[in-house]
Formats: sequence, C-alpha cells, structure tokens
Amino acid sequence: MAAKRDYYDVLGVARNASADEIKKAYRQLAKKYHPDVNKDDENAAEKFKEVAEAYEILSDDQKRATYDRFGHDAFDPTKGGAGFGGFGEGMGGFGDIFDLLFGNVGGGQRRRTGPQRGADREIRLDINFEDAVFGVEKDFEMQRVEKCNQCNGSGAEPGSSSKTCPQCHGAGQMRSSQSTPFGRFETVKTCTRCQGEGKIIEKPCNTCKGSGKTRKKRTINVRIPAGIDTGSRLRMQGEGEAGSNGGPPGDLYITVVVRPHERFSRDGYTLICNLDIDFTQAALGAEIELPLLGGATHQMVIPAGTQPGDVITVRGKGIPHLHSQRSGDLKVVVQVKIPTKLNKRQKELLESFHEEHDDKDGKKGIIDRLKDAMG
Ligand SMILES: [Zn+2]
Ligand SMILES: [Zn+2]
Repeated sequence: MAAKRDYYDVLGVARNASADEIKKAYRQLAKKYHPDVNKDDENAAEKFKEVAEAYEILSDDQKRATYDRFGHDAFDPTKGGAGFGGFGEGMGGFGDIFDLLFGNVGGGQRRRTGPQRGADREIRLDINFEDAVFGVEKDFEMQRVEKCNQCNGSGAEPGSSSKTCPQCHGAGQMRSSQSTPFGRFETVKTCTRCQGEGKIIEKPCNTCKGSGKTRKKRTINVRIPAGIDTGSRLRMQGEGEAGSNGGPPGDLYITVVVRPHERFSRDGYTLICNLDIDFTQAALGAEIELPLLGGATHQMVIPAGTQPGDVITVRGKGIPHLHSQRSGDLKVVVQVKIPTKLNKRQKELLESFHEEHDDKDGKKGIIDRLKDAMG
C-alpha cells in the first residue's frame, strides 16, 4: 500500500486552516470525487474515501490535535493508535452518504431468496488405537438441522401455501430514495415484512414453526480407513446442516483423535512397542512369540548378545499406509529384565559364570580385585 498522504495535502489546505476552510475544501473535493458524479476517474471512489478520512480527522478538534502531534500513527491500530471509530461520527449526515456510497447502494444488500447451502459441521471422533491401525466402521449419533418432513422444507402447513409478499411484491427488497446535498440516492433494503424471502407463509408449519427446518438426531455411519492418525480430518459430503430454499446441505468434517495404547505407540506409519526379555535370553538369544495388535502374533528371533535398548525392526508389520497397500515397519525396543530374586542354585551358577567371565576377559571383577588388594 502506498504511504498515506498527509491529511492537509489531501484536502489542499494549510496546516493552520480554519474549521470553515477545511469544511469548504472538503465539500468541494467530495463533490468532485463523488463516484456518482465523477464517472471518468476510476480512482474517484478511492479519492473520495481519502478525502472523507482526512475530513473526519481534521474536522474534529481533538482528533486534529492528535494528528498534528503524532501523525497517521495515532489512528493506526497496528501501531497502538485508536483506529477509526467508523466514519460519520458526529458529522451531520455524512455517515448516511458514506453508507449510501460504499455500503447499501446496489448490490450492498444480498437478496436472501436464492438457494443457500447449509452450514458445515465439525465433530471430533475418538477411536481406539487398533481401530486406527486396521480401520473401522463406526455409527454415531448427532443432532443436526434437517429439512422439515412435515412441510418438506417450505415452512408452510401442508395444504396451505405461501403467497407473494404484498410489501415487496416478491422482490425481497425495498427501494427508497433520499435527498442529500449531493443529489438523490436510491437505497435498497431487505424487505421487513418477508425478511427478504419474497413470500409470506399464511399458515406456518406446526412442526417447524415456519422455518422449514427441524433439529433431528441422526445416526451417521462413517468408515475410518486403516492407518489414520490423530488430527486426520474426514469429510462427509452432504452430511452437514440442511440448506435453505432448495440449496444443498453443508458437509460434515470429522476430526479423528486416536486414544493411546498401553503397549504400542506410533511414529507416522512405524509401529513401536517395548519387549521385556530375560537377561539370559538377551545373552543366549531366543525365539519369542510377540503378541501383535488385533490378536495376531509374530515369531521373533532375539539374537544372542542383544543389549538393553536394542531395536529390532520387523519389516511390514507396522501401520498400513492410508492410500496404498504398503505398511510401515514394527520397531521392537528390547528391555532386559534383571532378576531381583535368585535361588541358591541360580546364585551359584551366576557366580561361576562371573568367575568364568572374568577369566575369559583376562581381568578380575572389582570385588576380587579389592579382595586381592587387601590381601
Ligand atoms: Zn415444517
Ligand atoms: Zn417482502
């Protein structure tokens, strides 16, 4: 955006101009740039706005003093200024003209008689970890606005009908003209009688009280695809709120939240689990039946010499990719359990293992070395 022009320059007055001079300059410029008068200059509307803004500040003693001290920043909300409280405050009719120009004239008011799409709905759906991995079909109930069955959405009691609004003759809008110092303006406003619908219901439907809509509890069936994760959003077309005047319904967005699992977690499509093994299994190696999600098991080989924290990758046993036939990997994090109670024989075996272990490495354990040192 171009830098804001100085308000005095905009109005073409001196910095010490009197209130009368400012007013006079403003009136001249406003006339000149009035978009209805000035049809040659395509920037007329922009310039008119600029003039109006300058006048709003300079015609108000307090705002003018603030502007003189701090410049544009004083009115810029992004710089801590007050912003514009809306044009036309205490300006004797100017506000009306401004509205006429930039708000309500032609196209400013939208007719409401056309078909309108229903609102979108957003809900959260909590699912189990397993269901997220394998996919699931779920039914859930929700309340939503639907077309009233009794009147088929018309809002009129069956047998009665709606008639053309006598106030706007079906247009849904009312035109009125207004005289201003700059000429006559035509305003278009939504018809107050029919609220812009263009028709009036003689006998409102008993079920929906004339709105054509009812709130209904409805069971929605949703298929959760395998591999989905927390934060995924599913769109169900046409399952949102009902539309108006024959407009289509909105959509339903389902945001999925996956509950944590006590044994498994995931990182994208990688499934992660912990596996507790005995220290003897870690040292000697073992074959283990690993319980997987959904009741399956996996025959797993623990290599001899597995260390605590080692990760064993099982290819293709992770989470299915959402849009392909492939699956991620399963990563098994090995935890080695150290026994807390040993019977006499186990203790002897371990002690002899310990001595053996020391000899093999050609060095003695710390206890033995302490014993040696103390003679
Ligand atoms: Zn109804
Ligand atoms: Zn009307």
